[in-house]
Amino acid sequence: MNTDVLVVGAGPTGLMLANQLARRGVRALIIDRHAGPSVQTRALGVQARTLEIYSRLGIAGRALELGKRATGANIWALGRRAARVPLGAIGLDISPYPFLLILGQDDNERLLGEALRDRGVTVNWNTELVGLAQETDRVRATLRQPDGATREINAVWVAGCDGAHSAVRDLNGIAFQGAPYEHVFFVADTQATGTMVPDELNVYLWREGFHLFFPMRGMDHWRVVGIVAPELRGKKDLAFEDVIPSVREEAGSGLSFQKCSWFSTYRIHHRRAERFRDRRCFLLGDAAHIHSPVGAQGMNTGLQDAYNLAWKLALVVSGRAGATLLDSYEDERIPVARRLLSTTDRAFSLIVSDNWLAGLFRTRVLLKIMAFAMRFDRVRKLAFRTISQTGIHYRNSALSESPAGLPEAAPRAGDRFPWMRLKFLADGPGEDLFGKLDDTRFNLIVIGQPAPPGGIPGLGDLLRIHTVPGHPDNDRELARAHIPQPSFFLLRPDGHVGLAGLHLEVSAAIRYVSGRLHLGKETPEPLTMTGHLTPPSAR
Ligand SMILES: Cc1cc2nc3c(=O)[nH]c(=O)nc-3n(C[C@H](O)[C@H](O)[C@H](O)COP(=O)(O)OP(=O)(O)OC[C@H]3O[C@@H](n4cnc5c(N)ncnc54)[C@H](O)[C@@H]3O)c2cc1C
Repeated sequence: MNTDVLVVGAGPTGLMLANQLARRGVRALIIDRHAGPSVQTRALGVQARTLEIYSRLGIAGRALELGKRATGANIWALGRRAARVPLGAIGLDISPYPFLLILGQDDNERLLGEALRDRGVTVNWNTELVGLAQETDRVRATLRQPDGATREINAVWVAGCDGAHSAVRDLNGIAFQGAPYEHVFFVADTQATGTMVPDELNVYLWREGFHLFFPMRGMDHWRVVGIVAPELRGKKDLAFEDVIPSVREEAGSGLSFQKCSWFSTYRIHHRRAERFRDRRCFLLGDAAHIHSPVGAQGMNTGLQDAYNLAWKLALVVSGRAGATLLDSYEDERIPVARRLLSTTDRAFSLIVSDNWLAGLFRTRVLLKIMAFAMRFDRVRKLAFRTISQTGIHYRNSALSESPAGLPEAAPRAGDRFPWMRLKFLADGPGEDLFGKLDDTRFNLIVIGQPAPPGGIPGLGDLLRIHTVPGHPDNDRELARAHIPQPSFFLLRPDGHVGLAGLHLEVSAAIRYVSGRLHLGKETPEPLTMTGHLTPPSAR
């Protein structure tokens, strides 16, 4: 049992990675030490960027059917609604999914698992990684199998999607720096009525913490997440009834709970792995970073780690790119995790500080500032881009190249290319650009100039070319995204701009492909030389 990629862990991150590898024809083996899929809900919020990726995977429609769209977030303090963030209205021009989808982690895992099965890959449950030895051309992995016996397999690459207690991380001796928060969280699945704005996220701030009410499918169905009041922190057998008084205190006496079908408490940490890669092993998702649930970012970030790594691994495994390309995974994703940890940590500390003055600041001053700031379109858009993860960029990556000449406001190399509706035929209909892009290949968008007849040598069949003809509708959309004419954008498979400029010169594109992407230039490392593994050409 040998494989090109051993995916350790079948949580959301591992399932996303296995799906993306399968779509690209990579032979991967996915294992999980549990007996079956998780039944715990944990994460609840699916961000717009994740839905864009789900759409390429063919599961966005089902996710939308199963989930509930929260098109606004209401912030309450001292019994009054102090601010509302109109997610739907702000995000309309930014993503086809201008909302936060409330869909439990278990449902997300189910959809990802079904998609994987449809691609002919099954998870090996009850199979635990217990040992690793890295060699120059492979990793020897020791697996404990369902019958308790151990077995050694060879993998060319290992992806540690094995959560906060990652064996891949520990076996590689990678430090997981950070600390636990002292606060105890609770989560309750309730039927409730009160001041909550239906179908929207409701955040109640109080002096010593916060409570979040997530709208769920079904009548008056709310998932409540909050901080256990300091005086209850050490209490044994804490029950939902114990926390109700503090929830009522700031959500108002009109709040009434008809039912609580599930209640649980948990503690959280904020930590980041010091490296996301050790030679042939990678860390993704919670194995690489964990943080407070403020902002519903955790699961989404893991899914996007997988999306970032998958296309690179696929090119390297198939021998079309040198292994140097893989360096960009941690170069791009560590800064994302670092920013995420610092923003969620700052937001969390501000929200949960037990300090009296901080409580006063939070419930009186901060909210006024927020309500004021939300009047400005730029601030609202920045807020949506940050929360929805559509604003994540890799501008400082070695894979990003913007020759001079593009206006300051235009999309830059490293940015997620903006979503637009464009006509690809002057007399054709306006089409969803993201629907046209093929995320298993590079996409070249050529605007206001002819496309190079022979494509870009070096990319060959890895490239799709989209020519955007002149048309008043296109002009409007392009102007909205600050895209000049003529211009061109070479998008990586994950939709981020690799190379951008005004006039497309094939020689510059060739230099980019060979120099930055390491495609078709380097002799790949001897990746499949174990004798047990099938060389790419034989597949
Ligand atoms: C109580 C709680 C509430 C949360 N709420 C939110 C939220 O509201 N929003 C949000 O975005 N995030 C939230 N999170 C975080 C979110 O759940 C995680 O970010 C997400 O689960 C990460 O997915 P993952 O696939 O990286 O890791 P996991 O989901 O932890 O999956 C790891 C998998 O690896 C398997 N595994 C572990 N070790 C081995 C081994 N040695 N061999 C084989 N398999 C192994 C495990 O069995 C598991 O299935 C919450 C987390 C918790 C704990």
